Amino acid sequence: MRHRLFRVASHSRSRKQLPLLVSRSFSPLSSQSDRPPFGIAFDIDGVVLLGDTPIGGSPRALRRLYDDSGKLKIPFVFLTNGGGFSESKRAQDLGQLLGVNILPSQVIQGHTPFKQLVNRFENELVVAVGKGEPAAVMSEYGYKNVLSIDEYTSYFDAIDPLAPYKKWTTKPDIDQNSTSKETAKRKISVQTQRVQAAFIVSDPVDWSRDIQVLCDILRTGGLPGRESGKQPLLFFANDDLEYQATFPAERLGMGAFRIALEAIYNRINPIPLAYTSYGKPNPFVYANAEAIAETLLRNLMLLNKYGENSINHRLGWFKTLYMIGDNPKIDIRGAQRAGDRWFSILTRTGVFKGKDNHSEFPADLVVDTVEDAVDFILRKECRS
Ligand SMILES: [Mg+2]
Repeated sequence: MRHRLFRVASHSRSRKQLPLLVSRSFSPLSSQSDRPPFGIAFDIDGVVLLGDTPIGGSPRALRRLYDDSGKLKIPFVFLTNGGGFSESKRAQDLGQLLGVNILPSQVIQGHTPFKQLVNRFENELVVAVGKGEPAAVMSEYGYKNVLSIDEYTSYFDAIDPLAPYKKWTTKPDIDQNSTSKETAKRKISVQTQRVQAAFIVSDPVDWSRDIQVLCDILRTGGLPGRESGKQPLLFFANDDLEYQATFPAERLGMGAFRIALEAIYNRINPIPLAYTSYGKPNPFVYANAEAIAETLLRNLMLLNKYGENSINHRLGWFKTLYMIGDNPKIDIRGAQRAGDRWFSILTRTGVFKGKDNHSEFPADLVVDTVEDAVDFILRKECRS
C-alpha cells in the first residue's frame, strides 16, 4: 500500500490539527465546504527535476493539481534558489518538461527578489553575473543600464590575464546590430562610469575571471584599474553551498562561490566584503511565496465565479502551506523558520538520501519522491 512508503517524522513541531474535511473533492475551492484552503511550494532541483529530467513521478504528481480540462485547481508555486533565465522562460520550459501549464507568476527563483530593488538602480550601471542570461533577467525586471559580466569584461583589455589560455569562447550579449562606432562609444562610457551594484543572478561560470573582475569592481568603487574606493553593493540570489544536479555527488553552488570571493577579497582589501544574500532559507522568501499562492487562489476563485465578499472572507486563510524539498539545510530549515502554517516534506531524490529523518533539520514528513508527497497531501487534505 502506498501509504507504507511514508515515514512520518519523529520530530513534531507544535501545530494546529489539520482540518477535517467534509468533501472528497481535491479542490480547495469546493463550495460544499468552508474549509480553509492549502497551498504547495515545490523545490525544483532534486525534487521535480535532475538537470532537465523529470524525477520522482513529478509529471504525474503535478497533473493531479489540475482538473480534467487542464485548469489549475490547487494553488502551487515553484520555490527554487536556482535561476539564470526569466520567470516567463522558466515557466515555459518547466511546462514543457512536466506536461502542465505553468504561469510565470508560479515560478519564484533565487533572483526574483531583485525585481524589488529596481527603483534603486533603474538607471545606474549594474553588472549581472552567472550562467544563462543574467542581464536579460535583470532587463526584464526593469534595470535599464545592466551589463552581463561577459560584456562588461569585454570592454577592459587584458583584465583577465588567463583569457588567452581559456579554450572556450564567450559570446558577450552585445547588440549584434550595433556598429563598431557605437561599440567604441559604449566602451568609453563603461570605462568612465562607476558600477553601482553587482548582482550574482545564477551560478557563476568562469570563477577565476569573475572573482578577478568582481574584486576589481568592488575594491575600486566600481571602476577597475583605478585607485580604491567605497565598495559598490553586492547581492547574491542564494547562498547554497551545494546542490544536487545529474552527477551522483553534490555540486558546488553560489554559496561556495561567495566563500571563495569573500576569502580572497578580505585578503587583498582592508575592509571586509559587504553583501546581501537572498533565497531560501530566508523567511521572507516563504512569506513572498505565501503572498503569491494567495494571489493564485484569488484568481482561481474569480475564475470559479466566487463573489468578492466570499473571496475576501477566505483570503489569508491558508491553513497549511506545504514545502516539498530535498535539502534539509535549505528547504526544510526555511519552512521551519517561516512559521507554523508551513509543513515541510523532505524527499530522498536529491541532496538528502538518508533512511530516517535529518538529525539537525528534521522535516515534518520524509518520503521517497515528490509523487509520494503530493499523494500524502491530497489524502490528508481530502480525508473525509
Ligand atoms: Mg533542491
